[in-house]
Amino acid sequence: KSEFDIIIVGGGPIGIACGLEAKKNGLSYLIIEKGPIVNSLFHYPSNMQFFSSSEKLEIDEIPFISNEAKPKRDEALEYYRRIVTSNKLNMHLFEKVENVHKNKDSFTTTTDKNTYTSKQIVVATGFYDIPNLLHVPGENLDKVVHYYNNPHYYSGQKVAVVGASNSAIDAALECYRKGAEVSLIIRGPEVGQRVKYWVRPDIINRIQEGSIKAFFNTTVKSITKEYITLATTSEELKIPNDFVLALTGYKPNFSFLKKLGVNISNDVKKLPEYNSETMETNIEGLYLAGVICGGMETHKWFIENSRIHAKMIVKHIISNSVTR
Ligand code: FAD
Repeated sequence: KSEFDIIIVGGGPIGIACGLEAKKNGLSYLIIEKGPIVNSLFHYPSNMQFFSSSEKLEIDEIPFISNEAKPKRDEALEYYRRIVTSNKLNMHLFEKVENVHKNKDSFTTTTDKNTYTSKQIVVATGFYDIPNLLHVPGENLDKVVHYYNNPHYYSGQKVAVVGASNSAIDAALECYRKGAEVSLIIRGPEVGQRVKYWVRPDIINRIQEGSIKAFFNTTVKSITKEYITLATTSEELKIPNDFVLALTGYKPNFSFLKKLGVNISNDVKKLPEYNSETMETNIEGLYLAGVICGGMETHKWFIENSRIHAKMIVKHIISNSVTR
């Protein structure tokens, strides 16, 4: 079958919520995901703990049971995978959507494997595919990564962690505790205010006792095989270095959105245009769902406040088909 009421691009928590809602309402749908089920979560650090408690990550009120109040990444993988398998959601994995073309009354979706037609499109592609780069010489070296996985790898190594938010702070603490010599490079004057409230005192204490060396108001100037050069407010510092974890955030795939014809605001926020009551974009029949909606403000949307998009979109699609 290649014709659907809805094609959902992205099989993250919110894409899955959209599929589930479509199914419950008797609409034909297909979720197309370029990786495994909840690909972004699969690529989070292996020991990562969510900042949300498990009931806030639930979709469609399906209970999410976790050992602690805030679940670990692996528990979330279990949860979302079971939703997909138990509900037999129609989902194609390891298939990448390359383009979506609007015809008169339908859309044609082209992937790296197939072509599909649908009456509506939901784009739920998140923001975890494209890291914010440092744009410095040496960033392309193998020792520089923008995704961090496991601290064991860095034991006994000189590791520079760049960033001041949750990803960077979690990585700095974990690597320090597994025996890495950690330098934390922070562009601003302090550890980010949005760092999980139970983690922030931990990092501040480690910095104050000198276990982790923090450089505030400092940027990376260049990276070589053996060194990293930093620019502080007063001087340039060249420190020995084995690995750089550049954890300075991620951003939505704006060129993909533009290719689809979605308007993006011209300011630093780069907000995609959509109706906040229906989630429909400036392209009739093309909807946005999940954290992609925030543009560069990736902290504005999370699962708790974007899971509702699934119901809003399906409701709008159904009311449109009744009035048409
Ligand atoms: P995603 O989960 O990112 O899903 C998008 C999916 O689209 C991905 O699986 C991707 O592979 C797929 N995709 C992209 N492009 C294509 C394409 N062209 N074709 C096919 N598939 C495509 N939120 C919370 O609510 N609580 C938390 O505690 C929390 N912790 C976080 C910790 C980290 C380290 C990060 C990075 C984010 C965290 N978030 C948290 C935010 C979190 O990313 C989102 O809440 C959640 O993943 C959003 O779901 P989503 O479905 O909108 O996007």
